[in-house]
Amino acid sequence: MSDGTHARLQDVRNRLTEAEEARGRQVGEVKLVAVSKTFGPEAIRPVIEAGQTIFGENKVQESQGKWPELRKEYPNIELHLIGPLQTNKVRDAVGLFDCIQTLDRPKLARALAKEFALQAKQPELFVQVNTGQEPQKAGILPSEVDDFLQLCRDEFGLRASGLMCIPPFDEEPSLHFALLKKIADRNALAALSMGMSSDFETAIAFGATHVRVGSAIFGARSYTPG
Ligand SMILES: *Cc1c(COP(=O)(O)O)cnc(C)c1O
Repeated sequence: MSDGTHARLQDVRNRLTEAEEARGRQVGEVKLVAVSKTFGPEAIRPVIEAGQTIFGENKVQESQGKWPELRKEYPNIELHLIGPLQTNKVRDAVGLFDCIQTLDRPKLARALAKEFALQAKQPELFVQVNTGQEPQKAGILPSEVDDFLQLCRDEFGLRASGLMCIPPFDEEPSLHFALLKKIADRNALAALSMGMSSDFETAIAFGATHVRVGSAIFGARSYTPG
C-alpha cells in the first residue's frame, strides 16, 4: 500500500479511538465507513488489505463498475449507499448495497418495498434528514421525519434502523448532529450516520454510530461528484 494511504488510514483509526475514549464510548463501537467515491479498485484494494470492511459510495452506476469484481476477491465487504437514489436505479441498488442511507421520499420507499419483495433481499435503511432545511439538499425535513417513518412502516412495511445527515457546508455541525440525535431518540432508532473527515470526532461526541470518512483516508478527490 502507498505509505500515504497507510498513514492516513492509521491516523483516522487513531482519531476515532481517541474520540470514543474521550466520550466514554466503547472502543470499536463506532463504525468507520470508508468513502471510496471517485477512487478505483487500485486505490481501494490496499485499504481492504489493511482490514477496512465497510465502504460508502454515492453513485450506483460508479459502484457497479468496481464493487462486483472487488467483492469476488473480498466477500466480507459491507457496502453503503450514501448518495441520492433515483427510482430507476433501485433494482441495481438493492442488488448491490447492504445499507441504503439515503431514503428521502415516499416514492423511493414505495419502489424499495417493491424491489425488496422481488429480490427477497432487504438492505438496511437509514432515512436522510435535511437538518439544515436547505432547498437544494435531499432529505426529509426535521419536522416531518416522525410522520415519514410511520408512513414507511404502515404503508410500505419498511423499517428504517437509523438516520443520516449532511450538515450545511458553512455551519457549525454540532447543532445538526444534536438535532439528528434527538429525532433518532424519540423514534427509538439506533443508528446515526453523521460526521465526515473534518468533523467526525464532533459527531462521535453527539452519538454517531457510523462516520463517513473519505478524503482523510483516500486523500483529496480530483473532482467532487454529485
Ligand atoms: C463524499 C461524502 C463523504 C465523505 O466526505 P469527506 O469530506 O471526503 O470525508 C461523506 N458523506 C457523504 C454523503 C459524501 O457524499
